[in-house]
Amino acid sequence: MKTVVDRDLCYGCGVCAALCPAGAIRMLRERGEALWAVIDGEKCTDCGACRQVCPALGWEGVATPMFLTSSAVDRCLQPRREMGVGYALDTSLRRSGTSGGLVTAVLLELLRTGEVDSAVVVRQAAPLKAEALLARTEDEVRSAQKSKYIVAPYDQVLRQAQDCRSVALVGLPCHLEGVRRASLLLPNWAERIRFKISLLCAANLRLEVYRYLLRARGLSEDELVRWDFRPGDWWRQDYFRAVTSDDRSELFAFRHGILKNILPIRLFAREACLMCPDFSGRSADLSVGDAWFERYKGERAGRSFYVARTERAQALLDAMRERDSLCAEPVDLRTFCRSSNLWTLASKHVEVRGRAALRRMAGRPVPPNIPARAGPVGLALGATIYLARRLTRSFATRGRCARMAPALAAVTRSLLWIGRSVEAVFLPGALLHAAAWRLRGLITSLIGGGKRE
Ligand SMILES: Cc1cc2nc3c(=O)[nH]c(=O)nc-3n(C[C@H](O)[C@H](O)[C@H](O)COP(=O)(O)OP(=O)(O)OC[C@H]3O[C@@H](n4cnc5c(N)ncnc54)[C@H](O)[C@@H]3O)c2cc1C
Ligand code: SF4
Ligand code: SF4
Ligand code: SF4
Repeated sequence: MKTVVDRDLCYGCGVCAALCPAGAIRMLRERGEALWAVIDGEKCTDCGACRQVCPALGWEGVATPMFLTSSAVDRCLQPRREMGVGYALDTSLRRSGTSGGLVTAVLLELLRTGEVDSAVVVRQAAPLKAEALLARTEDEVRSAQKSKYIVAPYDQVLRQAQDCRSVALVGLPCHLEGVRRASLLLPNWAERIRFKISLLCAANLRLEVYRYLLRARGLSEDELVRWDFRPGDWWRQDYFRAVTSDDRSELFAFRHGILKNILPIRLFAREACLMCPDFSGRSADLSVGDAWFERYKGERAGRSFYVARTERAQALLDAMRERDSLCAEPVDLRTFCRSSNLWTLASKHVEVRGRAALRRMAGRPVPPNIPARAGPVGLALGATIYLARRLTRSFATRGRCARMAPALAAVTRSLLWIGRSVEAVFLPGALLHAAAWRLRGLITSLIGGGKRE
């Protein structure tokens, strides 16, 4: 079947399908999961628009430094006017948010002040299904709180948004890159989409990881009545909770129980996510993620890390601070470099080069703007990921020695940390910090064990 880009590179953003003038593109789905965009050859007029907007052929100007120096980190977070940590002062918003409820607080402010009349958000349509929605009311925006670690293509929602006067859009960096490229081609997109919020993103997960986790606890997808993403206290990092029809409730945590649930995100990430170089959505007005800063360790109420990139975002944050709807305090680059967000940034902007180099060696295509040249550390990290991915997924998903999967994942995690620590020599002070962070994680996991409700 004809595809827009190599299927391994398709992020599933759906922008090509929203824009195709011939309506020739649809997202291929398997067991409810959007996989990649396919073209109906009969309808296609070969206009080339899909390739012009595809983020996998984009990322012009995204920083992909060879080493993790302070100035490289600075470049990866550009453009920016202010970065900091904040949360919604409306306690219900903060409590129901993934981190500090900042994204939803900003969307509600834009709706209330009439700056936009609708917002593109992603809600959970079923336990393991995420769906993009054009929200026009406050309740609809609120109903989309919480991250769903599932791909949600924006094909239909972007078509619906064409009837709106002014839209705010929340998405992942890949959605934002697709929309940026589409706005260059169709200026009315740029006029209509007034405010763009990017979530920080390490990777999106394949549904197979949730199915594996369920199987490991003797459950199946059919028994689910609810699947909660990020339930419980913010810092504890319980990642998922499965609730079944017979009222059984199982909690899954990434960081607790070194041989139980540790599944480093890149082992079960979408293949295309390994070829994505943008952690924070460079073309957004505002980028938001979790504030994984040591100083907030143990806090129950969440905090969001933000990067205000444009004048518009800065003015909005200032107005919200003045109206007491938001608490937002700037942090400097040094403080950011001591947070664990640094390592996710490195896994995208820096380590992507190693993975790209290995793909090129294997004769696989890579996005044109990612340099496929890497140092020995980058290559070693890339090789660790690809090898561990192949082994872990094969064990975990085909039921062969399923118990080996978490052990393999734990070994991989340790190897990655050794590699990162070597890499971090280039960042003053970061080596010690990395070691301290690792030690803390190890102790927590030994004491914490797997959690069950
Ligand atoms: C796949 C994924 C990976 C992420 N990786 C990281 C990471 O590595 N590091 C980090 O610091 N933060 C990451 N985040 C962001 C983080 O999980 C929170 O979304 C962010 O901190 C905002 O929290 P909040 O409380 O301010 O937002 P909330 O008020 O909870 O609002 C969340 C918003 O996210 C949108 N959303 C939810 N799921 C999706 C989705 N699948 N696609 C597009 N939009 C969605 C909703 O529309 C909603 O408006 C990731 C998010 C996702 C979806
Ligand atoms: S080339 Fe044009 S018509 Fe063909 S699938 Fe792409 S956007 Fe649609
Ligand atoms: S635009 Fe998005 S959905 Fe379409 S091919 Fe590119 S990455 Fe895939
Ligand atoms: S890593 Fe995140 S932003 Fe990049 S392609 Fe995957 S889901 Fe999109």
